[in-house]
Amino acid sequence: MIQGNQGSMYDVVVSGGGPAGAIAAYECARLGLDTVLLEKDVIPRKKCCAGGLLGRAVRSLPFELPASIVQKEIKGFAIEFGSYRKEFDFPNAVGYVLRRDDFDSYIIGKARGAGALILQNARTLHVEEVSDHVKLDSTAGRIDGRLLIVAEGVTGSTARFLVGQYPRTSMAVGRAVNVTTERDPGDKIAIHLVDTPTKRLRMKKDFPLNGWMFPHRRGANIGVVGSGVSKNRIEATLSMIREKVRERYGLMEGEEDLMAHPLPLVARKVLHTRRSMIVGDAAGLVNPITGEGMSYALASGRMAAHTAAEVINEEKGLEHLAVYDSRCKTSIIRDIKAAMFLSPFLHRIVGVVDTRRFFDNFHREGVLVRVCLDIARGEEDWHSLLIKTIPRFPRLFFSSLG
Ligand SMILES: Cc1cc2nc3c(=O)[nH]c(=O)nc-3n(C[C@H](O)[C@H](O)[C@H](O)COP(=O)(O)OP(=O)(O)OC[C@H]3O[C@@H](n4cnc5c(N)ncnc54)[C@H](O)[C@@H]3O)c2cc1C
Repeated sequence: MIQGNQGSMYDVVVSGGGPAGAIAAYECARLGLDTVLLEKDVIPRKKCCAGGLLGRAVRSLPFELPASIVQKEIKGFAIEFGSYRKEFDFPNAVGYVLRRDDFDSYIIGKARGAGALILQNARTLHVEEVSDHVKLDSTAGRIDGRLLIVAEGVTGSTARFLVGQYPRTSMAVGRAVNVTTERDPGDKIAIHLVDTPTKRLRMKKDFPLNGWMFPHRRGANIGVVGSGVSKNRIEATLSMIREKVRERYGLMEGEEDLMAHPLPLVARKVLHTRRSMIVGDAAGLVNPITGEGMSYALASGRMAAHTAAEVINEEKGLEHLAVYDSRCKTSIIRDIKAAMFLSPFLHRIVGVVDTRRFFDNFHREGVLVRVCLDIARGEEDWHSLLIKTIPRFPRLFFSSLG
């Protein structure tokens, strides 16, 4: 069935209706561009995610985040490692926990409200960049656009077709489930340290097995993420976290469906082609320490939309799409690279030193704790943390040896 406005030429076609695609469609429509978004599922679709939205992402939203979709304000975190638990309290909230169903539906609604045409159950099958436009074949029929924004997540086929396969070895895999608790799980997220690359004597960019509990109003999202780890080990870790949550808050019967999804750990080198820009997870924009991707999905989606508006409204040539790459590089990718540099040191230090002593010492390093808070709020970036960690690293390391 043809749902699109076949025969007409859109200014921008967005493929994928997650946060990156929805915000791109919202901004394009708001900037006066004739915009259509194709989503292969129906939003809200199931999405495996812990739902943590840092203050920096919320600050960058071009609209309010309604209280009705906030499950919890995050006012601290706890590091758990075996029987050890160290709590960090924040003076103010640094972010929110949301359910992705609510958040994704909200942004799609905003895009529709701004004037974008939203086609659901519409999968992009094939794209071809011809001389003056992009031809897109989809399950909703043929769609033509002057520019394309690819927001299909890390497993999408269009980025693969345009700029090549995303390397499987650069992906972690996450599993998560929403549970209902008997008691209020508070307003701290819990990070469960499980494994470090040290165990495998590797000094590479890696995502050692970690787990979490993100509190909801009447329950929590619990999950595990890691790279190069067996399914059994992931399941066993999830069971361990489930037990800890049961002990602390009590667990009710009836979990939601357990979901799994890959997580890109390295940014793609090429983020645009002649008429296309790649945003969010499809571009590999995820923080390699925290697994946080929504801030970058929202930021890259907005940058792509602004670049599209400059090309179309201000009649800049197609070569202007390279500006999208450089905008991503100077903001998002600089941030990711700093985290990527810190990641093996952090994971290695945690494996070599006495982990409990390390977190006690880190807790005392007021400057580093403050930068982490400021990163979450969007007042500092990972590069600042890198710069401030280097001189403190020897002290932290030697004072944390067992
Ligand atoms: C276990 C886990 C936990 C996470 N926790 C957090 C967290 O707490 N905080 C955080 O910030 N990030 C988290 N992330 C990362 C976050 O989920 C992603 O970074 C974010 O969803 C990226 O948004 P996106 O719009 O780029 O892609 P997605 O959200 O993946 O959306 C892509 C959309 O494209 C659609 N699509 C795919 N192919 C096609 C096609 N051919 N045609 C049309 N539509 C298509 C899909 O159906 C999907 O709706 C987590 C990820 C995992 C796996």
